[in-house]
Amino acid sequence: MHELRKDPILGKWIAVLKDSKPPEYYMEEGLRRTFRESFGTSCIFCLGREKETPPEIYAYREPGLPSNSPNWETRVIPNLNPLFRIEGDLGRRGVGMYDRMNSVGAHELIIESPRHDIPPEDRGLSSMSGVIATYKSRISELEKDPRFRYLLLHKDYGRRKDMFHHPHSQLVATPVIPRGIKGELEGAKDYFFYKERCVFCDIIDEEMRSGERIVMETSHFLACTPYAPKLPFEFWILPKRHCCAFQDIDETEQEDFALILMTTLKKMRWILRDPAYSYLLHTAPNRIPRKEYWHTLGEDFHWHMEIMPQLAPKSGFEWSLELHVTATSPEDAADYLRGASPL
Ligand SMILES: [Zn+2]
Ligand SMILES: [Zn+2]
Ligand SMILES: [Zn+2]
Repeated sequence: MHELRKDPILGKWIAVLKDSKPPEYYMEEGLRRTFRESFGTSCIFCLGREKETPPEIYAYREPGLPSNSPNWETRVIPNLNPLFRIEGDLGRRGVGMYDRMNSVGAHELIIESPRHDIPPEDRGLSSMSGVIATYKSRISELEKDPRFRYLLLHKDYGRRKDMFHHPHSQLVATPVIPRGIKGELEGAKDYFFYKERCVFCDIIDEEMRSGERIVMETSHFLACTPYAPKLPFEFWILPKRHCCAFQDIDETEQEDFALILMTTLKKMRWILRDPAYSYLLHTAPNRIPRKEYWHTLGEDFHWHMEIMPQLAPKSGFEWSLELHVTATSPEDAADYLRGASPL
């Protein structure tokens, strides 16, 4: 099993894979070979090849149809190369001065479209809404497992376009709260402590007031570039209704979220010429009551999605200082995104 190790200085967890890779692994050909060994030479996520994947965990298809049959809109299967495995215990232990534990968790692959070459945002609102319904269903289900502290839904698009092109995203359930998320949760908690207001609700009010960073607004959501972005053209989608957990959205909000995500993704792809990008769903940690449970979580956190195009690699300066440099102001980025009309 892979291993999680805790940095003794910064307190953050990192994962070390069990089968240690040689230098060639990181070269272009090595990456291709690993991909071929894992996934074969053609795509097993396409419609009609359901029996070649591990059995599905969930599928979005008409009720009454058999599982692992071709009639589906989205499918969820275990990740073929999981970083986290569902079986086993955490095995938290100290080794000398260091802390480690087993990488117990869940790692699911969400196949977002039966078509290899058409992402859900290009298949229309009902397809996109099916993807959001799938996210919601899986997150709600995994939140019931007390071993998991955080559920991270994320999509990485286009970085290895030729190798893994089928539209997909991933859901990872981790036994620890990742440090990046923890920083945001603690910042929101501190803001609430001092002001007795949710920082994200305040951001929404401020952005609606100024309007200069708004990308799009729908009945229930606001898409805007953040005041202090980590990347050029980064933007966030926030629900206008205060709510700490994504999985608590109702059906109307689900449809509206699909609309704003679909439209803003198309705008971004249009003006940036189909860039590699990631999106991350920042939602509340597992809400099963436990020791040190975060009692104000429902008030001080506010779920949102962060969409980050990867246009240029980060410099050593940015890595080490975490002082991000963006060559396009968020106000200009919002202006470009707002004005894009790819439809
Ligand atoms: Zn495919
Ligand atoms: Zn709020
Ligand atoms: Zn966030």
